[in-house]
Parts: sequence; C-alpha cells; structure tokens
Amino acid sequence: MAEIKLKTRNLETWAEEEVTRIQDDGLYRSFKDIQSAQGPVVKMDGKEVILLCSNNYLGLANHPEIVHAAREAALKYGAGSGASRYISGNMELYSKLEDDTAAFRRCEAALVFSTGYMANVGVISALAGEEDVIFSDELNHASVIDGCRLSGAKTFVYRHADMDNLCHLLKKHRADFRHALIITDSVFSMDGELAPLPDIISLARQFDAWTLVDDAHGNGVMGENGRGAGELLCCENEVDIWIGTYSKALGSLGGFVCAEKQVIELLRNRCRSLIYSTALPPSVLAASLTALKIARENPSLRERLWQNVEQLRHGFLELGYDIMGHNTHILPILTGDAERAMEAGRLLLAGGIYVTPIRPPSVPEGTSRLRVTVTALHTREHLNRALDAFNKMKATF
Ligand code: PMP
Repeated sequence: MAEIKLKTRNLETWAEEEVTRIQDDGLYRSFKDIQSAQGPVVKMDGKEVILLCSNNYLGLANHPEIVHAAREAALKYGAGSGASRYISGNMELYSKLEDDTAAFRRCEAALVFSTGYMANVGVISALAGEEDVIFSDELNHASVIDGCRLSGAKTFVYRHADMDNLCHLLKKHRADFRHALIITDSVFSMDGELAPLPDIISLARQFDAWTLVDDAHGNGVMGENGRGAGELLCCENEVDIWIGTYSKALGSLGGFVCAEKQVIELLRNRCRSLIYSTALPPSVLAASLTALKIARENPSLRERLWQNVEQLRHGFLELGYDIMGHNTHILPILTGDAERAMEAGRLLLAGGIYVTPIRPPSVPEGTSRLRVTVTALHTREHLNRALDAFNKMKATF
C-alpha cells in the first residue's frame, strides 16, 4: 500500500506565501483608517478628502437626531444586548423597528437581523434545502452566493439579467425539484444596474417559483417614497421575499426581511444566523428606527441625492468616461485591469478625492473599476472639485 505522506507546513510560512501571491496578482487589500465621522468629506491620514465611495446615500450616518437617539438608547439600555434574541437579547426596540419597517415597506411583517449579510445567508438557507432548486443571477451579492451554498439546494447561476437564459434553465430543471427560488439583487451593487424585476416575476409565476429580491441598494433611495426598487418598478406586492439593510441609505447597521406573516413566522424559527448570534445593541436599533423615520419624512434628501447623481453622471459623460449607462446612484468607471484601478485610486487620492478601487473577486476578472457613489450631503462645489480631479486623472492616466 502506498505510504501517505503528510506534509505539515508551518502555518505562518504558508500564510506569507499566500499573501505574496495575492500581492503578485494585484489583489492585496488593506484597511484605510477614517479619522472623522462619515460624511461627504472625511479625514484620512490627517487630511480632509471628499468621500465618493460610501453607501451612506442619504447622508444619515452622522445625522444629529440619529446620533442623539443612539446615545439616549445607550444611556437607557446600555451598550450591549447580552445574548441572542431568543435567549435574553431581544431589547424592546426590536418590535418597534420590525413594525415600522413592515409599515414602511408595505409588507405584512418584517424580521430584523444583525446585518444584511446575515439576513441573506439566514433566509436563503432557511427557505431552500437539498430537495429544492435556486436560480441566481451571476452578479448577485456575495451574501446571496454564500446563502445558496449553505442551503444545500441545487443552484443554477443564470447569465446576468438574461431572461432567455433564466427561462431556459427553468424549463430544463424546474420540474426535477420540490420548490424553486429565483434570487436577484434589485440594484447590482458594483454595476448600479436595475434588475428586470417584472420579467423575473412573470417567469416565477409561469414556472411556479418563489422570488427573493435583495433591495440593499434600493431601500430608502428608490421610488418616490424611498420604498425601494419595488416601488420604482411598480412590483412591490409581487415579490415573495424582500431583503434590505439599514446599513446603506439608512446610515446604521442591520438587515431585514419583509414577507407575509406566516413566512416571517417560519423564518423566525429557522434562520440560524438569527437564532445563533448575539442581538444588535440598543443604540443601533434606535439609530435604525430614527433613520427610518427621517428617510420617510424627508423626500428632499432623495431629491438632493438624485440631483447629485445627475450632476456627477453628466460630468463623467462630458469627460468621456464610460459609466456603463445605468441610471442609478452607483456609477462604475471601468479600468479593466486591477493595477490600473489601484493607480486611478492613488491619483484621485492625491487630488483629495477618495474612491476605493474594486477588484476581483468583488467583480469578475478583467472588470476592475472605480465604484463611485454620491450622497445627499455632497454640495455642487464638492462634486465640481471631484470632477476636476477626475479630469486631471484622465490626463495623467
Ligand atoms: N446585499 C447587497 C447587494 C450588498 O451590497 C450588501 C453590502 N455590501 C449586503 C447585501 C450586505 O449588507 P450588510 O452590509 O448590511 O451586511
């Protein structure tokens, strides 16, 4: 019998080699400290820079009323929740937040998770199992991909937003499984493109599938009342499960799922990411509650955001940048090569503008980019300065 040779390698040496490989591929990641509150301008390395890559779309992350609510909640309820929601961490603010979220999203019921990531992973793996099939857009967020993997369901990845391909896969495979779930992001986080939700819903009906839509980037900003991509595309009530987050337009932290009461009841009892993790701190729940109220009551924030998007989009097009033609608040500038994205980011930072380069695996190979996002709090002057820096970058790039 052949002898099995076990080679015990030193963990540190192996890790060093792997990191070198990541560096050689131009994919090394490092954190950049922000030394001030989130806003249109932040402090980095002691210098003020215009921030153009956060998801703080409505500019609520440092809103005085929200900060005050978080502070008051910390004073009243303390810093931590002490356990998971089912043990003893279900601070009373949860039920108010779930009621308000369901009312805002016009759904029967909502369930709050500690992050949007945990909502996706928990909900997908609770709804689908080994007897089921999932059809997932190839550009869906990593948390959707991880949820599909964890579920154990057979997963078919359809070509991005390609309804012919989705239809073909449904025709071929739907009948072999118990339940089918079609999953898509509403606004693709790295491209800013809207999913063809009405077509997806109609295919779901045709093939007896459920729909789960991740509205992380639509919630709070899309539609006249900010109820998200469903409001914008007039299909709010036709999606089975909406996932959203308090961490982007609402400037706080946490994820949610909205669905019919009975579905939420099941999820409450099944989602492992909910059952087995510590509940959110009260300050965060209070921040999300107040942010939701402010987002609902102040349409002017959305108006400002969309004016800013328009100014930036116009400016980029005038400078000759290809922004992939999608009309949303996420403006990607493709560089293709990862190293070029890094160089573009460095040049902009030297000009006082901070935009993080996005490289694989966050985006497919060869599609590295600068993902530019703007907030309601940027002024015309901020954006003019930013466009000036983009212009200079183009000249030296
Ligand atoms: N879905 C999408 C589309 C996202 O972009 C993100 C965050 N990048 C998430 C889910 C996860 O949300 P959270 O940051 O609240 O965990």
